[in-house]
Amino acid sequence: MSALRWIAASVPSIAAAIALHRWHGGRDGRAPARAPADLTAARLRKKVDRPSGGLERLERVGEEIGTTPLVVMANREPYVHERNGDGEIEVQRPAGGLVTALEPLLRQRGGTWIAYASGSADRETAKRDGTIAVPPDDPQYTLQRVFLRKEEVDRYYSGFANEALWPLCHIAHTRPVFRQADWQTYRAVNRRFARAASGEKASLIFVQDYHFALVPREIRNEAPEAVIGIFWHIPWPHAEMFAICPWKEELLDGLLGADVIGFHTDTYRRNFLDAASRFAGCEVNEAEMSITSRGHKTLLRTYPISIEWPYPAASREEGARLRERLGIGSDVHVSVGVDRADYTKGLVERLRAVETLLERNRELAGRYVHVQLAAPSRQDIGEYRDLVEEMRRETGRINARFGTRGWKPIVLNIESIAPDEVRRYYAMADSAVVTPLHDGMNLVAKEYVASCEDLRGALVLSRFAGAAAELTDALLVNPYDAVEVADAIQRAIDMPDAERASRMRALRGAVAGNTIYDWSANVLTDLTAIRNERATEWRRGELLRSRGA
Ligand code: UDP
Repeated sequence: MSALRWIAASVPSIAAAIALHRWHGGRDGRAPARAPADLTAARLRKKVDRPSGGLERLERVGEEIGTTPLVVMANREPYVHERNGDGEIEVQRPAGGLVTALEPLLRQRGGTWIAYASGSADRETAKRDGTIAVPPDDPQYTLQRVFLRKEEVDRYYSGFANEALWPLCHIAHTRPVFRQADWQTYRAVNRRFARAASGEKASLIFVQDYHFALVPREIRNEAPEAVIGIFWHIPWPHAEMFAICPWKEELLDGLLGADVIGFHTDTYRRNFLDAASRFAGCEVNEAEMSITSRGHKTLLRTYPISIEWPYPAASREEGARLRERLGIGSDVHVSVGVDRADYTKGLVERLRAVETLLERNRELAGRYVHVQLAAPSRQDIGEYRDLVEEMRRETGRINARFGTRGWKPIVLNIESIAPDEVRRYYAMADSAVVTPLHDGMNLVAKEYVASCEDLRGALVLSRFAGAAAELTDALLVNPYDAVEVADAIQRAIDMPDAERASRMRALRGAVAGNTIYDWSANVLTDLTAIRNERATEWRRGELLRSRGA
């Protein structure tokens, strides 16, 4: 018999999460129950650190949704069954904001999560129809697995989603590759997912991301009464850039089957409105930020995604232990970068900015180290493999140019690490350098801010990350400008404690005021309001019909 092993922390129900929240002291602003080492941080914590009440709002939305079936569609599963080297089946919990954002709601009131079945033991652990009750040890909702062949995943996911849409939407000057066969598979896979969601006719359906642009229209055709929201997690480019996509009209039409399309920033939403008015020939209402196409109205809304708060930060002591492990002295200023190894993250540009910094300030020898974590990603795509190689080369070159016997200015760690280890990197750092060339949001910037409970950090942030719209007290830079980034790192190194504390306090206020639970509560509140309006219209119609009007 196969052993079932639980290898990651479970996401609590809303009630349990709220209890946890109160225990941390976040809700009423009292000092949190923590180890004495953190008491200074607790004293420094100001009112602005209070969480926003998003979790409580999410609970109320759950009650308001009532008996209407709730469906979440995402490429990734919340529970993956994998067969390990010993032939045992393990349950894995992929780390990710979406599970944190939505699972509490599904656990509170049930529902269905539709996802691509990525695990090697996913088929044998699900029923014949692909469903499985989850969490496996305490079933509360249904996971509907969609099984795809390898060539379908290669074309729909690696091909169209990651080689066409990803570079099309990010201004990183990497050309999109538009292959007819990828597009056809993307369409077919979107149809398969839409069919899986159309079973429940009058449901609330929340679709995630650029893997499913055509799903809203497909569902609308099958289930006109469904209330559909889709969230676009990556930037939406300017209409001129979007114009190069051979299937732009079809993509827009697919998305416009939704009742609500969500974006991280007002700029992306504005870009979408322009693209729709230029290429989809639809009616646009700028004041309301809505688009009417084929007689159906779609609202465009801005919902900046965020992280949980209070955040389970690692302590400075844990950070110090990591520093020791890496052989970096306690008096050295450490700037940290934590990224997927993706060409949108500006990683090579960042290394060259560090080089510029060292050129301009020779006194930093032995006193400064940049620690860059780069998690390998999408290694089936050539550009991603090349990037890892280039980072290795550039790090070697810069270290050879400036390093001394006992000091290497750049520590490059190319591996994917667990979230609690990531938090030790944040706790070790004196500053963070988050300089993507373009990024929908960038959660690392928010996580770093959340980690600085003692207000002792500094954040260098790209103007072209969605997070820059909220984190205006960071040192904002143009990631293409090596001198500007180098100067900002220098400022972070030299920054007086009072300025660090006041900037960090403001940054923490911005993150605490809009948590991941606000994000999901805001999206679902809007979808629930549309459902209510539709029900009222339907009742009014019934009344008029019964009176023979
Ligand atoms: N992350 C992680 N392990 C790693 C590298 C990154 O857990 O080795 C996490 C990081 O903490 C963050 C997420 O991956 O939560 C990256 O999110 P972000 O929005 O910054 O970028 P994305 O990868 O989604 O483009």
